[in-house]
Amino acid sequence: MNRSTLASYAANDETSIGRRFSEPRPAYRGEFQRDRDRIVHSTAFRRLVYKTQVFVNHEGDLYRTRLTHSLEVAQIARTVARALSLNEDLVEAISLAHDLGHTPFGHAGQDALNACMREHDGFEHNLQSLRVVDELEERYAAFSGLNLTFETREGILKHCSAQNARRLGEVASRFINRTQPSLEAQIANLADEIAYNNHDVDDGLRAGLIDLAQLETIPFFADRAAEVRAEYPECRDLPLTREIIRAMIDRLVTDLIQTSQARIEQADPASIDDVRGQKRQLIALSDELADGQAALKRFLRESLYTHPHVQKMTRQAHQTITDLFAAFGENFDEMPPEHAARAQLAMDEAGRSAAMRTIADYIAGMTDRFALQQHARIAGGDSEDPRLLD
Ligand code: MG
Repeated sequence: MNRSTLASYAANDETSIGRRFSEPRPAYRGEFQRDRDRIVHSTAFRRLVYKTQVFVNHEGDLYRTRLTHSLEVAQIARTVARALSLNEDLVEAISLAHDLGHTPFGHAGQDALNACMREHDGFEHNLQSLRVVDELEERYAAFSGLNLTFETREGILKHCSAQNARRLGEVASRFINRTQPSLEAQIANLADEIAYNNHDVDDGLRAGLIDLAQLETIPFFADRAAEVRAEYPECRDLPLTREIIRAMIDRLVTDLIQTSQARIEQADPASIDDVRGQKRQLIALSDELADGQAALKRFLRESLYTHPHVQKMTRQAHQTITDLFAAFGENFDEMPPEHAARAQLAMDEAGRSAAMRTIADYIAGMTDRFALQQHARIAGGDSEDPRLLD
């Protein structure tokens, strides 16, 4: 990161709040660059390739996975950060880590695991992403987790209840003090929304679960479609839809940069502390584009996420997670020895809820494929050694 190009209100690794366990500064990298590298080397990051957003991984090789989603978020976020002279290394680190805590089977998996954990403080993928980087990754001799900087951890924790915030301490203090996160964290959050709304349209069209005519009932989509058709009147449907999606992303990103620039100029923060003290977030879409994006989101909820085909997968996912949780909870030895031992230790030291948390950690870490294999093993009594697949 060329520090001379950073705005005074950008996150700067020289003034970072730091890591939980202090470490010598890296010789050739910045602190946030080191965070990004640690995230890319993590086990949880590699597993994102076999975890899905909306479609189950084995349904087709062409759909987004959480890995490609995270890369799309990172590239959108970097564009915005660079245009606003903010810290690209930090937005990239946050973007690549933001979904590390996601369960198998996308939102369906998260809802199912949350239901299983209802009596044990619940399960929330966002908190789990922080738990992965703070505690669950085992890569260093001196500490658990990846020991990331405060700024990256703060960005990963997008939302949090007051109860959880009290438990988590400093990293979650803004949910109690009602302060704002860094501008880089705000960018990663909005880049996530722009990425998934647009790629879910793309994947939904590709799967044949939604069509162009339906999408053209949304003014934001219809306006982009009219522009593209005016420019390429003979264009076939497939490249046409790609052009429309490109145009939507371009409009959203351009608007995000311009609206945020205007808000930053108006608020005139001198430092990241000024950013944190603002009443509202300075990174934002204009009202018009925020409405366009909200309409797209509503459409996806009503037409794609609740499509009978997707719902069928949702039910399967629910059953898989629920059955795994019940089987592991009943007999820890249904899990590989190190996970069984972890659950037993938690049970002995802190009781049943702590043991259930280790089971939720194990299930959340699974890929779609591994969860299905484990489910088949439990249901069918197959004696395949789960460790070979972990
Ligand atoms: Mg995401």
